[in-house]
Amino acid sequence: TYVVTEACIKCKYQDCVEVCPVDCFYEGENTLVIHPDECIDCGVCEPECPAEAILPDTEPEAEQWLEMNREYAEKW
Ligand code: SF4
Repeated sequence: TYVVTEACIKCKYQDCVEVCPVDCFYEGENTLVIHPDECIDCGVCEPECPAEAILPDTEPEAEQWLEMNREYAEKW
């Protein structure tokens, strides 16, 4: 799965939401979040993010954001 990280905070763009083929972006508390069970790992959102806030969970920096993404995505 891909995850949204803290660089998303206060970003006003929604480019990622528009390109996601499975609509797995949701509103979190201060960021958008990706539902880790719905993301199909296509990667198209990553280069679209102007804040470079989206990373694959294989990146070491992404790991700490995975539970935050799951927590907020599952509220919907
Ligand atoms: Fe959506 Fe693909 Fe990004 Fe996953 S990697 S959030 S499926 S655009």
